[in-house]
Amino acid sequence: MDEILQAIEAEASSEEIANLTIPESYRAAYVRRDETEMFEGLESWEKDPRKSLHVGDVPLPETAPDEVVVAVMASAINFNTVWTSIFEPLPTFGFLDRLGRESEWGARHNLDYHIVGSDGSGVVLRTGSAVRSYKPGDRVTIHCNHVDDQDPFSHNDSMKASNQRIWGFETNFGGLADLTVVKANQLMPKPAHLTWEEAAVNALCASTSYRMLVSNHAAPMKQGDRVLVWGATGGLGGYAIQLVLNGGGVPVGVVSSPEKAELLNEMGCEAVIDRKAEGYKFWSDEHTQDESEWRRFGKQIRSLIGEDPDIVFEHPGRQTMGASVFAAKRGGTVVTCAATSGYMIEYDNRHLWMKLKRIVSSHFANYEEAWRMNKLLDDGAIVPIMSDVYALEDVGLAANQVHHNLHEGKLAVLCLSPEEGRGVTDQEKRERVGEDRITMFHRHAVANVNPE
Ligand code: NAP
Repeated sequence: MDEILQAIEAEASSEEIANLTIPESYRAAYVRRDETEMFEGLESWEKDPRKSLHVGDVPLPETAPDEVVVAVMASAINFNTVWTSIFEPLPTFGFLDRLGRESEWGARHNLDYHIVGSDGSGVVLRTGSAVRSYKPGDRVTIHCNHVDDQDPFSHNDSMKASNQRIWGFETNFGGLADLTVVKANQLMPKPAHLTWEEAAVNALCASTSYRMLVSNHAAPMKQGDRVLVWGATGGLGGYAIQLVLNGGGVPVGVVSSPEKAELLNEMGCEAVIDRKAEGYKFWSDEHTQDESEWRRFGKQIRSLIGEDPDIVFEHPGRQTMGASVFAAKRGGTVVTCAATSGYMIEYDNRHLWMKLKRIVSSHFANYEEAWRMNKLLDDGAIVPIMSDVYALEDVGLAANQVHHNLHEGKLAVLCLSPEEGRGVTDQEKRERVGEDRITMFHRHAVANVNPE
């Protein structure tokens, strides 16, 4: 592995990289099938990813003809890392069992350990015999849409393919590791002005937000649209705010602390709601929602931007969906991709149909959407929202931070890259895009830890 790292850092030629020996085993973060009941009887918040996520050596699987082996320089924590590590709502081994039954190559994934991680940046080491567009030495980021192109329904919109999966969540050999094996159609060029860790944090959340707000598949925003964004400095929200501003919309960001509100202002989002400071309580008890709180919320939005939002960017789920449906403008759209606080949703249908609103579902992004999002990052129109960096050995701690909403933006994890700050190959472009913009979330997190 040292030799691989040295060759990458020396910017070795494609031929030199192709001639490197790839070890038969590698370091990876995984959960174990025999531990899926370890948190039995505990509440969700008591389930600790530090106990279930292990880091150790695993064998490298064989590479299929349409796959590549990538040396992962950095990866990231996603909320799906949390779901896998607390075995909620179900252990992810069920996904691996199903994939294992599908084909000979699928059977490789069905193991007693599940290597997690759905983001990554790194360098292609080997390509399968059917790979045409990439070669050893290519610097790449990896998106997580894992699709079998022999499924007819994968060709109009691959997110609608019957066997569409999320890499590192519904497949094995995820990105939180020194090596990974992925399909060549998951690769995208790494933006040269970003470090390995800055490049690693974007693909999953940024592409999801892109499909939700830009692509025709969900709620394409028009210039001037007002967009309410929940969790506006979180993984999805931090990109959503940037996409709204970049597309000529007006964002209203909801967050839960003055520090996060300040960060939103720094991003250029003027209309901010601190849901904690305002004390919003949309549920008066476990079974009853409080419509007067929806009204108070709607009123605050109107006081900030003068009207109701055309689009509500929704993902907290049960806690907020009633308020989201209520707050959307007459004829407006609630676009949802998740339900962090609970997936059995309740809203007042009268507010939906009488005011001709619609709820649109969205899930990750197809290759074109992920590619277009990667291009916006490459152009510097959108910047990474990386707030902190962890070593692979501390992956459980990083996942625990996300589990308990103790983070802002995205948490990166260093895999083969030995320290922060490496991997930039176009310093001039970095200066053009702006060091201050690129490091905004990181600087903000550091300033909050050391306020003086
Ligand atoms: P994240 O980084 O944890 O950010 C979520 C934000 O939501 C938090 O920062 C928090 O912001 C806010 N939030 C959490 N609980 C809330 C509640 N009860 N009420 C209001 N706001 C709440 O997570 P993420 O990466 O953005 O992901 C969010 C959800 O989307 C997760 O469930 C994840 O699994 C899902 N997801 C789905 C897809 C997909 O393709 N379908 C892709 C990515 C993520 P404040 O505390 O500041 O308000």
